[in-house]
Amino acid sequence: MDTLSGAARIDGKAFATGLVQRIASEVVRIREESGATPGLAVVLVGEDPASAIYVNAKRRETLAAGMESFAFHLPVSVTQAELMALLDDLNSDSRVNGILVQLPLPAHLDARAVINAIAPDKDVDGFHVVNAGRLFTGQPSLVPCTPLGCLMLLKNRLGDLTGMKAVVIGKSNIVGKPMAQLLLAENCTVTVAHIQTRNIADLCRTAEILVVAAGSPHLVRGDWVKPGAVVIDVGINRVERDGRSRIVGDVAFEECGHAAAITPVPGGVGPMTIACLLENTLTAWRWQNLPRSQARDTQ
Ligand code: NAD
Repeated sequence: MDTLSGAARIDGKAFATGLVQRIASEVVRIREESGATPGLAVVLVGEDPASAIYVNAKRRETLAAGMESFAFHLPVSVTQAELMALLDDLNSDSRVNGILVQLPLPAHLDARAVINAIAPDKDVDGFHVVNAGRLFTGQPSLVPCTPLGCLMLLKNRLGDLTGMKAVVIGKSNIVGKPMAQLLLAENCTVTVAHIQTRNIADLCRTAEILVVAAGSPHLVRGDWVKPGAVVIDVGINRVERDGRSRIVGDVAFEECGHAAAITPVPGGVGPMTIACLLENTLTAWRWQNLPRSQARDTQ
Protein backbone atom coordinates (compact mmCIF):
# COMPACT_ATOMS: atom_id res chain seq x y z
CA MET A 1 0.00 0.00 0.00
CA ASP A 2 1.32 3.41 -0.93
CA THR A 3 -1.00 5.32 1.40
CA LEU A 4 -0.50 7.09 4.67
CA SER A 5 -2.20 9.91 6.49
CA GLY A 6 -0.47 13.01 7.75
CA ALA A 7 2.94 12.92 6.12
CA ALA A 8 3.45 14.49 2.73
CA ARG A 9 4.58 12.10 0.02
CA ILE A 10 7.74 13.46 -1.66
CA ASP A 11 7.20 12.91 -5.36
CA GLY A 12 10.70 12.18 -6.67
CA LYS A 13 9.32 11.20 -10.06
CA ALA A 14 7.73 14.62 -10.63
CA PHE A 15 10.82 16.43 -9.32
CA ALA A 16 13.09 14.36 -11.59
CA THR A 17 10.86 15.08 -14.60
CA GLY A 18 11.15 18.81 -13.91
CA LEU A 19 14.92 18.55 -13.48
CA VAL A 20 15.35 16.68 -16.77
CA GLN A 21 13.23 19.34 -18.52
CA ARG A 22 15.48 22.08 -17.13
CA ILE A 23 18.57 20.13 -18.25
CA ALA A 24 17.09 19.67 -21.74
CA SER A 25 16.47 23.44 -22.01
CA GLU A 26 20.06 24.10 -20.96
CA VAL A 27 21.31 21.63 -23.59
CA VAL A 28 19.33 23.54 -26.25
CA ARG A 29 20.84 26.83 -25.04
CA ILE A 30 24.38 25.38 -25.13
CA ARG A 31 23.84 24.08 -28.67
CA GLU A 32 22.45 27.43 -29.86
CA GLU A 33 25.26 29.43 -28.26
CA SER A 34 28.27 27.21 -28.94
CA GLY A 35 27.19 24.55 -31.45
CA ALA A 36 28.27 21.87 -28.95
CA THR A 37 26.20 19.03 -27.51
CA PRO A 38 27.12 17.58 -24.09
CA GLY A 39 27.89 13.87 -24.40
CA LEU A 40 27.82 10.91 -22.01
CA ALA A 41 29.63 7.60 -22.63
CA VAL A 42 28.35 4.51 -20.82
CA VAL A 43 30.47 1.37 -20.70
CA LEU A 44 28.83 -2.00 -20.00
CA VAL A 45 30.89 -5.16 -19.52
CA GLY A 46 29.23 -8.58 -19.83
CA GLU A 47 25.62 -9.70 -19.88
CA ASP A 48 24.24 -8.98 -16.41
CA PRO A 49 20.50 -8.39 -17.12
CA ALA A 50 19.99 -5.81 -14.36
CA SER A 51 23.03 -3.81 -15.56
CA ALA A 52 21.71 -3.93 -19.14
CA ILE A 53 18.36 -2.51 -17.97
CA TYR A 54 20.10 0.33 -16.06
CA VAL A 55 22.36 1.15 -19.02
CA ASN A 56 19.43 1.23 -21.46
CA ALA A 57 17.49 3.54 -19.14
CA LYS A 58 20.51 5.88 -18.87
CA ARG A 59 20.94 5.93 -22.64
CA ARG A 60 17.22 6.62 -23.21
CA GLU A 61 17.20 9.52 -20.72
CA THR A 62 20.44 10.96 -22.10
CA LEU A 63 18.95 11.10 -25.59
CA ALA A 64 15.64 12.44 -24.24
CA ALA A 65 17.56 15.34 -22.68
CA GLY A 66 19.06 16.13 -26.08
CA MET A 67 22.57 14.98 -25.18
CA GLU A 68 24.86 12.73 -27.19
CA SER A 69 24.96 9.14 -25.97
CA PHE A 70 27.97 6.90 -26.64
CA ALA A 71 27.38 3.25 -25.75
CA PHE A 72 30.14 0.63 -25.40
CA HIS A 73 29.20 -2.98 -24.72
CA LEU A 74 32.29 -5.10 -24.05
CA PRO A 75 32.37 -8.90 -23.77
CA VAL A 76 32.73 -10.45 -20.32
CA SER A 77 36.16 -11.70 -21.44
CA VAL A 78 37.54 -8.15 -21.86
CA THR A 79 40.91 -7.67 -20.16
CA GLN A 80 41.81 -4.93 -17.71
CA ALA A 81 44.26 -3.51 -20.27
CA GLU A 82 41.59 -3.39 -23.01
CA LEU A 83 39.13 -1.63 -20.72
CA MET A 84 41.81 0.84 -19.62
CA ALA A 85 42.66 1.55 -23.27
CA LEU A 86 39.00 2.37 -24.01
CA LEU A 87 38.91 4.73 -21.00
CA ASP A 88 42.10 6.42 -22.25
CA ASP A 89 40.40 7.05 -25.60
CA LEU A 90 37.25 8.40 -23.94
CA ASN A 91 39.28 10.61 -21.59
CA SER A 92 40.88 12.35 -24.57
CA ASP A 93 37.73 12.53 -26.75
CA SER A 94 36.35 16.08 -26.53
CA ARG A 95 32.86 14.95 -27.61
CA VAL A 96 32.66 12.85 -24.44
CA ASN A 97 32.05 15.03 -21.38
CA GLY A 98 30.99 12.29 -18.99
CA ILE A 99 32.11 8.66 -18.60
CA LEU A 100 30.29 6.02 -16.61
CA VAL A 101 31.37 2.40 -16.19
CA GLN A 102 28.37 0.35 -15.09
CA LEU A 103 29.02 -1.57 -11.86
CA PRO A 104 29.40 -4.31 -10.79
CA LEU A 105 32.23 -5.43 -13.06
CA PRO A 106 33.15 -9.11 -13.58
CA ALA A 107 35.40 -10.40 -10.78
CA HIS A 108 38.57 -10.56 -12.90
CA LEU A 109 38.51 -6.77 -13.37
CA ASP A 110 39.82 -4.36 -10.71
CA ALA A 111 36.84 -2.02 -10.32
CA ARG A 112 38.71 0.50 -8.15
CA ALA A 113 41.51 0.85 -10.72
CA VAL A 114 38.94 1.17 -13.51
CA ILE A 115 37.03 3.96 -11.74
CA ASN A 116 40.26 5.80 -10.94
CA ALA A 117 41.31 5.58 -14.61
CA ILE A 118 38.43 7.89 -15.59
CA ALA A 119 39.48 11.54 -15.84
CA PRO A 120 38.14 13.10 -12.59
CA ASP A 121 36.39 15.93 -14.48
CA LYS A 122 34.53 13.31 -16.60
CA ASP A 123 33.67 11.07 -13.64
CA VAL A 124 29.90 11.69 -13.67
CA ASP A 125 29.25 8.90 -11.16
CA GLY A 126 31.44 10.82 -8.70
CA PHE A 127 33.20 7.63 -7.55
CA HIS A 128 36.80 8.67 -8.44
CA VAL A 129 39.00 9.13 -5.39
CA VAL A 130 39.71 12.73 -6.49
CA ASN A 131 36.01 13.58 -6.48
CA ALA A 132 35.55 11.85 -3.11
CA GLY A 133 38.44 13.98 -1.81
CA ARG A 134 37.02 17.18 -3.30
CA LEU A 135 33.66 16.50 -1.62
CA PHE A 136 35.39 15.69 1.68
CA THR A 137 37.37 18.93 1.61
CA GLY A 138 34.49 21.16 0.48
CA GLN A 139 35.72 21.75 -3.08
CA PRO A 140 33.43 21.69 -6.12
CA SER A 141 33.17 18.04 -7.12
CA LEU A 142 31.17 15.62 -9.20
CA VAL A 143 28.96 14.05 -6.52
CA PRO A 144 27.52 10.50 -6.60
CA CYS A 145 24.10 10.74 -8.25
CA THR A 146 21.88 9.08 -5.62
CA PRO A 147 22.94 11.20 -2.63
CA LEU A 148 22.90 14.30 -4.85
CA GLY A 149 19.28 13.49 -5.72
CA CYS A 150 18.44 12.97 -2.02
CA LEU A 151 19.93 16.37 -1.16
CA MET A 152 17.91 18.08 -3.88
CA LEU A 153 14.69 16.54 -2.52
CA LEU A 154 15.60 17.60 1.03
CA LYS A 155 16.44 21.19 0.06
CA ASN A 156 13.30 21.45 -2.04
CA ARG A 157 11.25 20.37 0.98
CA LEU A 158 13.12 22.13 3.80
CA GLY A 159 15.06 25.01 2.24
CA ASP A 160 18.03 25.86 4.45
CA LEU A 161 19.23 22.77 6.32
CA THR A 162 21.60 24.65 8.64
CA GLY A 163 21.72 23.27 12.17
CA MET A 164 19.40 20.34 11.50
CA LYS A 165 20.10 16.99 13.13
CA ALA A 166 20.54 14.35 10.40
CA VAL A 167 21.01 10.60 10.70
CA VAL A 168 22.20 8.59 7.69
CA ILE A 169 21.85 4.81 7.87
CA GLY A 170 24.48 3.17 5.64
CA LYS A 171 28.15 3.97 5.07
CA SER A 172 28.78 2.79 1.51
CA ASN A 173 31.04 4.84 -0.76
CA ILE A 174 28.22 5.38 -3.25
CA VAL A 175 25.38 6.45 -0.95
CA GLY A 176 25.95 6.69 2.82
CA LYS A 177 29.34 8.40 3.04
CA PRO A 178 28.78 11.01 0.30
CA MET A 179 25.28 11.67 1.71
CA ALA A 180 26.81 12.42 5.11
CA GLN A 181 29.38 14.73 3.52
CA LEU A 182 26.71 16.61 1.56
CA LEU A 183 24.63 17.13 4.72
CA LEU A 184 27.73 18.28 6.60
CA ALA A 185 28.41 20.78 3.82
CA GLU A 186 24.86 22.10 4.40
CA ASN A 187 25.78 22.63 8.06
CA CYS A 188 23.70 19.78 9.45
CA THR A 189 24.83 17.86 12.53
CA VAL A 190 25.32 14.42 11.02
CA THR A 191 25.49 10.94 12.53
CA VAL A 192 26.23 7.93 10.32
CA ALA A 193 24.74 4.62 11.47
CA HIS A 194 25.51 1.17 10.07
CA ILE A 195 25.08 -2.52 10.71
CA GLN A 196 27.23 -2.41 13.85
CA THR A 197 25.57 0.67 15.37
CA ARG A 198 24.08 0.08 18.81
CA ASN A 199 20.64 1.42 19.80
CA ILE A 200 19.97 2.47 16.22
CA ALA A 201 16.23 2.98 16.82
CA ASP A 202 16.93 5.47 19.63
CA LEU A 203 19.45 7.26 17.43
CA CYS A 204 16.95 7.54 14.57
CA ARG A 205 14.35 9.02 16.94
CA THR A 206 16.65 12.05 17.37
CA ALA A 207 16.77 12.80 13.62
CA GLU A 208 14.99 15.72 12.00
CA ILE A 209 16.33 14.35 8.70
CA LEU A 210 16.57 10.57 8.32
CA VAL A 211 18.21 9.12 5.19
CA VAL A 212 18.10 5.33 4.98
CA ALA A 213 20.38 3.42 2.59
CA ALA A 214 20.79 -0.02 4.15
CA GLY A 215 19.31 -2.42 1.60
CA SER A 216 17.17 -4.06 4.31
CA PRO A 217 13.41 -4.20 3.65
CA HIS A 218 11.35 -2.19 6.17
CA LEU A 219 14.30 -1.94 8.57
CA VAL A 220 13.05 1.41 9.87
CA ARG A 221 9.73 1.06 11.66
CA GLY A 222 7.32 3.91 12.33
CA ASP A 223 8.38 4.19 15.98
CA TRP A 224 11.99 4.88 14.89
CA VAL A 225 10.83 8.10 13.21
CA LYS A 226 10.59 11.37 15.15
CA PRO A 227 7.27 13.19 14.67
CA GLY A 228 7.78 15.91 12.04
CA ALA A 229 10.95 14.36 10.59
CA VAL A 230 11.68 14.27 6.87
CA VAL A 231 12.51 10.72 5.75
CA ILE A 232 14.39 9.79 2.58
CA ASP A 233 14.22 6.09 1.74
CA VAL A 234 17.00 5.06 -0.67
CA GLY A 235 16.47 1.31 -0.33
CA ILE A 236 15.42 -0.82 -3.28
CA ASN A 237 14.51 -4.33 -2.15
CA ARG A 238 12.71 -6.98 -4.15
CA VAL A 239 10.44 -9.05 -1.88
CA GLU A 240 7.84 -11.77 -2.43
CA ARG A 241 4.45 -10.96 -0.97
CA ASP A 242 1.17 -12.82 -1.60
CA GLY A 243 2.93 -14.80 -4.31
CA ARG A 244 3.95 -11.60 -6.12
CA SER A 245 7.32 -9.96 -6.44
CA ARG A 246 7.41 -6.27 -5.55
CA ILE A 247 9.87 -3.50 -4.73
CA VAL A 248 9.89 -2.06 -1.22
CA GLY A 249 12.14 0.42 0.56
CA ASP A 250 14.11 0.29 3.79
CA VAL A 251 11.38 2.18 5.67
CA ALA A 252 7.93 0.91 6.69
CA PHE A 253 6.24 3.71 4.73
CA GLU A 254 2.69 3.01 5.98
CA GLU A 255 3.81 3.44 9.61
CA CYS A 256 5.22 6.95 9.04
CA GLY A 257 2.08 9.10 8.98
CA HIS A 258 3.59 11.22 11.79
CA ALA A 259 6.61 12.24 9.64
CA ALA A 260 6.45 15.65 7.99
CA ALA A 261 7.33 14.10 4.63
CA ILE A 262 8.67 10.83 3.23
CA THR A 263 9.78 9.44 -0.13
CA PRO A 264 7.86 6.40 -1.39
CA VAL A 265 9.53 3.37 -2.98
CA PRO A 266 9.21 3.23 -5.91
CA GLY A 267 8.76 6.80 -7.12
CA GLY A 268 10.97 8.61 -4.60
CA VAL A 269 14.76 8.59 -4.80
CA GLY A 270 15.05 6.15 -7.72
CA PRO A 271 13.98 8.55 -10.52
CA MET A 272 16.35 11.22 -9.15
CA THR A 273 19.43 9.07 -9.75
CA ILE A 274 19.37 9.18 -13.57
CA ALA A 275 18.28 12.84 -13.56
CA CYS A 276 21.34 13.64 -11.43
CA LEU A 277 23.56 11.68 -13.83
CA LEU A 278 22.46 14.11 -16.54
CA GLU A 279 22.95 17.05 -14.17
CA ASN A 280 26.51 15.84 -13.53
CA THR A 281 27.12 15.50 -17.29
CA LEU A 282 26.07 19.13 -17.70
CA THR A 283 28.38 20.15 -14.84
CA ALA A 284 31.23 18.19 -16.47
CA TRP A 285 30.54 19.92 -19.81
CA ARG A 286 30.77 23.33 -18.09
CA TRP A 287 34.03 22.40 -16.36
CA GLN A 288 35.52 21.34 -19.68
CA ASN A 289 34.20 24.24 -21.78
CA LEU A 290 33.79 27.37 -19.66
CA PRO A 291 36.48 29.35 -17.89
CA ARG A 292 37.12 27.55 -14.58
CA SER A 293 35.66 30.19 -12.24
CA GLN A 294 32.52 30.67 -14.34
CA ALA A 295 31.97 26.90 -14.66
CA ARG A 296 32.24 26.30 -10.90
CA ASP A 297 30.00 29.31 -10.12
CA THR A 298 27.15 27.89 -12.22
CA GLN A 299 27.30 24.53 -10.43
P1 NAD B 1 25.68 -1.40 0.63
O1 NAD B 1 25.28 -2.83 0.83
O2 NAD B 1 26.97 -1.09 -0.04
O3 NAD B 1 25.69 -0.67 2.05
C1 NAD B 1 24.67 -0.87 2.97
C2 NAD B 1 25.00 -0.12 4.24
O4 NAD B 1 23.90 -0.26 5.12
C3 NAD B 1 26.23 -0.66 4.98
O5 NAD B 1 27.01 0.43 5.40
C4 NAD B 1 25.67 -1.42 6.16
O6 NAD B 1 26.50 -1.33 7.30
C5 NAD B 1 24.33 -0.74 6.39
N1 NAD B 1 23.32 -1.67 6.88
C6 NAD B 1 22.91 -2.81 6.29
N2 NAD B 1 21.98 -3.42 7.04
C7 NAD B 1 21.83 -2.65 8.15
C8 NAD B 1 21.03 -2.77 9.33
N3 NAD B 1 20.23 -3.82 9.53
N4 NAD B 1 21.12 -1.79 10.25
C9 NAD B 1 21.94 -0.73 10.06
N5 NAD B 1 22.72 -0.58 8.97
C10 NAD B 1 22.66 -1.53 8.03
O7 NAD B 1 24.45 -0.74 -0.11
P2 NAD B 1 24.34 0.62 -0.98
O8 NAD B 1 24.96 0.42 -2.29
O9 NAD B 1 24.75 1.78 -0.14
O10 NAD B 1 22.77 0.66 -1.20
C11 NAD B 1 21.87 0.73 -0.11
C12 NAD B 1 20.45 0.56 -0.63
O11 NAD B 1 20.15 1.63 -1.50
C13 NAD B 1 20.20 -0.71 -1.43
O12 NAD B 1 18.87 -1.15 -1.21
C14 NAD B 1 20.34 -0.27 -2.87
O13 NAD B 1 19.60 -1.06 -3.77
C15 NAD B 1 19.75 1.13 -2.77
N6 NAD B 1 20.22 2.04 -3.80
C16 NAD B 1 19.29 2.75 -4.45
C17 NAD B 1 19.66 3.66 -5.41
C18 NAD B 1 18.60 4.45 -6.09
O14 NAD B 1 18.82 4.95 -7.18
N7 NAD B 1 17.44 4.64 -5.46
C19 NAD B 1 21.00 3.82 -5.74
C20 NAD B 1 21.97 3.11 -5.02
C21 NAD B 1 21.56 2.21 -4.05
